[in-house]
Amino acid sequence: MAKHIAAIDQGTTSTRCMIFDHGGNVIASDQREHGQIFPQSGWVEHDPLEIWQRAQSVVVAALEKAQLNRTDLAAVGITNQRETAVVWDRKTGEPVYNAIVWQDTRTDQLIRRLARDGGQDRFRAKVGLPLATYFSGPKIRWILDNVAGARERAEAGDLLFGNIDTWLIWNLTGGVDGGVHVTDISNASRTMLMNLETLDWDAEIMEVMGVPRAMLPEIRSSSEVYGECRGALQGVPLAGDLGDQQAATVGQTCFEVGESKNTYGTGNFMLINTGEKLVHSKSGLLTTPAYKFGDNPTVWALEGSIAVTGSLVQWLRDNLNLISSAPEVEDLARKVDDNGGMFIVPAFSGLFAPYWRSDARGVMVGLTRYINKNHIARAALEATAYQTREVLDAMQQDSGVELKELKVDGGMVYNDLLMQFQADILGVPVVRPKVAETTALGAAYAAGLATGYWKNTDDMRANWAMDKRWEPRMSEDQREALYAGWKKAVTRTFDWLE
Ligand code: ADP
Repeated sequence: MAKHIAAIDQGTTSTRCMIFDHGGNVIASDQREHGQIFPQSGWVEHDPLEIWQRAQSVVVAALEKAQLNRTDLAAVGITNQRETAVVWDRKTGEPVYNAIVWQDTRTDQLIRRLARDGGQDRFRAKVGLPLATYFSGPKIRWILDNVAGARERAEAGDLLFGNIDTWLIWNLTGGVDGGVHVTDISNASRTMLMNLETLDWDAEIMEVMGVPRAMLPEIRSSSEVYGECRGALQGVPLAGDLGDQQAATVGQTCFEVGESKNTYGTGNFMLINTGEKLVHSKSGLLTTPAYKFGDNPTVWALEGSIAVTGSLVQWLRDNLNLISSAPEVEDLARKVDDNGGMFIVPAFSGLFAPYWRSDARGVMVGLTRYINKNHIARAALEATAYQTREVLDAMQQDSGVELKELKVDGGMVYNDLLMQFQADILGVPVVRPKVAETTALGAAYAAGLATGYWKNTDDMRANWAMDKRWEPRMSEDQREALYAGWKKAVTRTFDWLE
């Protein structure tokens, strides 16, 4: 039987295993959610051991559904929620604290303190990122400062840090029994600790951030054999590692300069390929590696990260009980012709790109007696589209590339109303591929490329096929009037936390 490639996609809300064939088709998949832990306002945690258990169960279940054995797999690749930080004991494999999730804002004070000396862009030239609670470095510091004895143990080399990719790779390759402690450049670049020029940990930032080098993983390319799996995947080469958004960029085959994709999940993340050139943003975007395949040069990207898009729909479901499932938001939104003059700016974790305001908090504005829950549903969907427009404007400014169409993926892209509104508010067509599971596919591509399953990027590009396309239909006047309303609403979120 022809071999297959497995990808483990460890996301913010769930973990999936998908098994692909050579054509990039999904043969089988399994998915399980894990708990979201909110110990206090602004804090978000996951249990790393639960995530490791989920990863093992989805692998076993996906193989079973595909009626395949581990020996039918040519390789396995990993993709993961980025920035989320785990610190564990290398001798016992026990985490010293829960994983601190990318959305968590507990390091707000630390970030302000660090910004006093040199401003928010203090490290931007080196790491491509503004100082923000989003990235791993401050989260590691928090664990070392707040867990009794952690700093001493870390300095003695007894504790390891990893993002979720590193945590899973270490466990998959044997854990306490010889697990490899590695990450790839796409994940490493989101710690705030990796120097983009050297692609190595930066001594000055480690010192300022208070993170000892002994706990950091080795930085490798995104596509190479890191080790062999044990357990359920015994003997299968683990050969791909990409942060989820970089994986989606690869899965969408954005291999040429100027090609971009936008992923609509918990948050939204748009990346544009800038080729072998590292571009520094003047418009609030992040500079980040897109991927590095083995010994080939690093390919760079500019990224616009939006913290809250799909999670606003979850909030309507879980906190307001306005809907009982995410797709229902579209049914409500369709009952009205417009937003009735109201806007929701979901600055739940502050605002990310292009503002980077950790002092912002969410608002609903323009309320009148006329507004009903249908308008709220509509405004929630529109918020995703306006935020994307802000990021796209920034991208066109920074890169000078005018976008011809936007390739989209992620859970929200099955919302037809949203996709049409997105095309309308951008004035650019929106295109969805047949395999919208581009994150898992990208990780599979990285693993398959390292092991010769796919020969080159043309092999992957041949697999991309369109499913649906939305053309802009709104008048220029209407588009700009709505967008001006949004921009005004955004200003109402600022300075909420003084
Ligand atoms: P992640 O990988 O970040 O966990 P997914 O790509 O699986 O996210 O997308 C899930 C998100 O998309 C959830 O936040 C959910 O609220 C949202 N979502 C899913 N289906 C729809 C829909 N039909 N309309 C609007 N939002 C949706």
